[in-house]
Amino acid sequence: MIPYGRQSISSTDIDAVVEALQGDFLTTGPLVEKFEKSISILSDAPSVAVSSGTAALHCAYAAIGVEPGDEIITPPITFIATQATAALFGASIRFADVDKFTGLMDPTEVESKISKKTKAIVAVDYAGQVCEMEQLRKIADKYGVYLIEDAAHSLGSTYFGQNVGSIADITTFSFFPTKNATTGEGGAISSHDPELLDKARKFARQGLVRNKESFRIQSEGIWHQEVHRFGLNYRLPDVLCALGISQFARLHEFKAKRQTIFDRYVSAFESESSVQTIKVLPNRSTHWHLFPIFVEKNQRMRVFNGLRESGIMVQVNYLPAYRHPVFKNSDDIRGEFPNSEQFYESEISLPMYSDLSSRDQDVVIEKVLNLVRV
Ligand SMILES: *Cc1c(COP(=O)(O)O)cnc(C)c1O
Repeated sequence: MIPYGRQSISSTDIDAVVEALQGDFLTTGPLVEKFEKSISILSDAPSVAVSSGTAALHCAYAAIGVEPGDEIITPPITFIATQATAALFGASIRFADVDKFTGLMDPTEVESKISKKTKAIVAVDYAGQVCEMEQLRKIADKYGVYLIEDAAHSLGSTYFGQNVGSIADITTFSFFPTKNATTGEGGAISSHDPELLDKARKFARQGLVRNKESFRIQSEGIWHQEVHRFGLNYRLPDVLCALGISQFARLHEFKAKRQTIFDRYVSAFESESSVQTIKVLPNRSTHWHLFPIFVEKNQRMRVFNGLRESGIMVQVNYLPAYRHPVFKNSDDIRGEFPNSEQFYESEISLPMYSDLSSRDQDVVIEKVLNLVRV
């Protein structure tokens, strides 16, 4: 069986976790701060470690103060966490269609969805490729709204030489096993705005205020801590931070290996007109998370099932978010998103992970070509 994604765990990763287990702290200890430093170096912005990519998004929306009545603009082609965590704060979700060759939110579509209620534009770096951030920044500034980057796919990517994490007002990462680096479950928030980052951190730490200067109750002893706004427990344990630190030291290796796999797929399908690959945009260095291919809509089910039947665990990323039954007007709005529909109906994500051997990759390539040539 060849999975579509999987972690790469080395003996140094294992040693790091064992050492943490033998230490004094299982959860909040010195490795949390150390891991946050590794994230900050990579994202080129101060960062907070949290327990998942979903938690990171929830913290980002808490930081900008999403409230009932606010609207956020998101692409349909994403994991539902992008929308769910804002909807849970009462936000209305507005969708902006994607480019059909990249799956990235189209800035023109975004601008057409701006209203007086818009709180934030939330871009998703599909497959690891950074969105049209320059255009999105201009729109965000023009209308005075926040720009959030869901970089669950794009840890280690760059845009005009800038590291992902330092571009948007807030960037969120995921360290799920299939993502570019893993802590099992885990995530992070990066931001150059100290106030936003402080709000995100507090939300992830039960809302607890610990510094004396900020106390509103002055009469208590040194045990005292107090809450001004509710938060949740989204801490990332020390043991998982140990894995994260070790994984981040291997990120360049991961990126290079994923690039090699990406290039091999592209050259294998170059001369096959019935298999399209993702459009690669200029001015970026991408840490590829997914390898999407596009086949004829009426062939997708057969090709997908054929691959699964031969033990190749392909995926489809993603069902356009508005089609989830939680969105009640799904059927009425489908027609507004022809590119997202086209993208979803023809997409298959092939196995893509740093330890994918060239032999296994050849098996995938051969099977795909056999299936599409029928
Ligand atoms: C994986 C993912 C998330 C959620 O991350 P978790 O760590 O699984 O909670 C959010 N957005 C996108 C685009 C993702 O791919």
